[in-house]
Amino acid sequence: MITPAFVAIGSNLGEPPRQLQRAVSALATLPASALQQVSSMYRSTAIGPGEQPDYLNAVALLHTALEPDALLLALQSIEHAQGRERGERWGPRTLDLDLLLYGQQEIHSSHLTVPHPRMHERDFVLYPLREISNTSLVLPGGKDIDYLLEQLPPGELEKLPDPLRVQ
Ligand code: ATP
Ligand code: CA
Ligand code: CA
Repeated sequence: MITPAFVAIGSNLGEPPRQLQRAVSALATLPASALQQVSSMYRSTAIGPGEQPDYLNAVALLHTALEPDALLLALQSIEHAQGRERGERWGPRTLDLDLLLYGQQEIHSSHLTVPHPRMHERDFVLYPLREISNTSLVLPGGKDIDYLLEQLPPGELEKLPDPLRVQ
């Protein structure tokens, strides 16, 4: 079965524009998957501890035959290939790939929660997600993307003009 899966891409170390572009190229070569769309890049202020560089964020849509666990492992191996080191929670990183949505599935396992539990409150996830989904994208639980965007407090997210290349 082919399932649409949305993946959040974030970086605030090691030349973030280059990290995002490398991640997109890696997502395009995942087994049993096809990269469908990639959003613009957005600049956001880090939510983690201490002084950190700004993040660049984007969201990609895959059509995949990988099961959710296999997809998560594949995402983690891309993070690893791009020098991700596990430090303190929400510390700076070269690459973070989060599985936001896997079709309409709700998953609660020890290592995977889908929909991503904090996506609803993050402008740097919802705006790029909105950009590459249709208006009526409804999340498991019944809330649609435009409703979630309306609930966000005002922020300082900045959409960048330079596009990510899908090929
Ligand atoms: P946040 O989840 O708040 O965005 P983070 O991305 O910094 O924080 P990580 O350190 O990258 O968190 O991941 C911690 C663990 O989260 C991973 O080891 C993974 O098993 C788990 N995890 C649970 N649900 C997801 C998901 N939907 N996508 C990615 N990782 C997930
Ligand atoms: Ca994350
Ligand atoms: Ca993560």
